[in-house]
Amino acid sequence: TVRVGVLGLQGAVREHVQAIEAIGQTAVIIKEPEQLELVDGLIIPGGESTTMRKLIDEYGFMPALQSFAESKKPMFGTCAGLILLAKSIEGYDQPHIGVMDAKVARNSFGRQKDSFEVSLDLVDIGDDFPAVFIRAPHILEVGPDVTVLAKHNGRIVAARDGQYLGCSFHPELTDDHRITHYFVEMVQDYQKTNA
Ligand code: GLN
Repeated sequence: TVRVGVLGLQGAVREHVQAIEAIGQTAVIIKEPEQLELVDGLIIPGGESTTMRKLIDEYGFMPALQSFAESKKPMFGTCAGLILLAKSIEGYDQPHIGVMDAKVARNSFGRQKDSFEVSLDLVDIGDDFPAVFIRAPHILEVGPDVTVLAKHNGRIVAARDGQYLGCSFHPELTDDHRITHYFVEMVQDYQKTNA
């Protein structure tokens, strides 16, 4: 089994742990930077990106997150986690971790649609995935090496940039674990090439 970390500062941490365990893998809740050495993949959950960034700074996580990224280990950002991974955020001068070649916009889906569910077909992953959106961001632009995995109403809502996977919605809130499984395969591929 692979050990997947879930950044445990804020947000939907427990749900990601349950999804990882449901597919027979080991989850580690990461509350201190040193714990990143225990895992070969990291999920950054949904929640509130500005709050999570404050906690990242408060706990001195940023250098460890950046060297985790440099070591080519896979990282998966869901919703706020996608915002934290993106190289550029609309309306902001600076990104957060800033490693995934994508520009995101926050809170993209309007007030009356704060929260909704749609069925999405995802490239390489499968069709009819139940995608739960909660004050979700979307991806405005991606770099040349990024694969768009899904769109909703013409907007990019899931993409992969090599070791980085990001989605606007919350795959951990349903019991369809295909996206978590896809991420686990990314971690297994990392392990094979770095064994
Ligand atoms: N709106 C939140 C943000 O900007 C993201 C919401 C979520 O993660 N469900 O960080």
